[in-house]
Amino acid sequence: MLYSYEQCKILLSDTESYDNLQSPLLINWNINGECQNKCTYCFSRDYKSIPDLLSESKLAHIIACIKLLNPLVVVISGGEPLLYPKLKYIIDNLNKYSGVIIDTNGLCLNEDFITYFKENKILLRISLDDYRSSINDKIRKSSINCSTDIILDKMEKLLVTNTNFIVHTVLSNYNIDNILEFGKYLNAKGIKFWEIQVVIPFIGDIEKLHNKISDLKNFEESIESQMTINIHPNSGNEKGIILINPKGEFLIRKTNSLKKEFIDSENKDNPDLSTLMKVLDIKNHFQRYTGKII
Ligand code: SF4
Repeated sequence: MLYSYEQCKILLSDTESYDNLQSPLLINWNINGECQNKCTYCFSRDYKSIPDLLSESKLAHIIACIKLLNPLVVVISGGEPLLYPKLKYIIDNLNKYSGVIIDTNGLCLNEDFITYFKENKILLRISLDDYRSSINDKIRKSSINCSTDIILDKMEKLLVTNTNFIVHTVLSNYNIDNILEFGKYLNAKGIKFWEIQVVIPFIGDIEKLHNKISDLKNFEESIESQMTINIHPNSGNEKGIILINPKGEFLIRKTNSLKKEFIDSENKDNPDLSTLMKVLDIKNHFQRYTGKII
């Protein structure tokens, strides 16, 4: 199966609206904490201390719990999921009934992975905050030399092999001044979908941020839909998005906060659907994954 955000939009546009959503569109599963980078904004630092190699029976239990919740898409991230030895076991079992998106820093994408992802119709979300190493390296703080050049090279390979991927960028004070040039670069390369997440928390000039978001929207219009730009500005809400940590515990994180809380502290690894839907920010969730502004 293959459900990208665009396909969520197509699947839901005529039949559903956010107020009658019965199950989550998407669940984020952070399978590990290990990563080659130390990004300034990393959401997953607290996962680094969790031993991340679960047994296949534990992974099968998590997959069965996800299946009961019936999401359209599971986003697998980490840490860096391509470093996780049982990644293919997870994908082989998940994508029998759900779309799969992989969040990756791209550093260890190789031919074997590319062929496997293509065969299994996985959507890759490659994280990159600028094409200039002078900007990207400052944010990503990678332990790998020339990491920005490596990622640009891997993106070329994905383009040449016609592999399904989008670019994911965190917008912060480090890259805000040059974000339009970055957009022009991605468009010239033939990238079709660019997702921009405003950093949490954004500490800076809010007016400048709003102006940049409006510039990006104007830019998207000016290139006449050659590239879709999806911007998540982090609206405040008591509810949030669903995460599964590397231990298989279900958490909620408010959309404008890094703090995570158990969805059901009595039933950490298998909350029921109604409990989960009560803490899910359904409107934001729907907007985020369908691109439909309500
Ligand atoms: S690449 Fe992702 S997991 Fe790794 S440090 Fe950066 S944000 Fe964290």
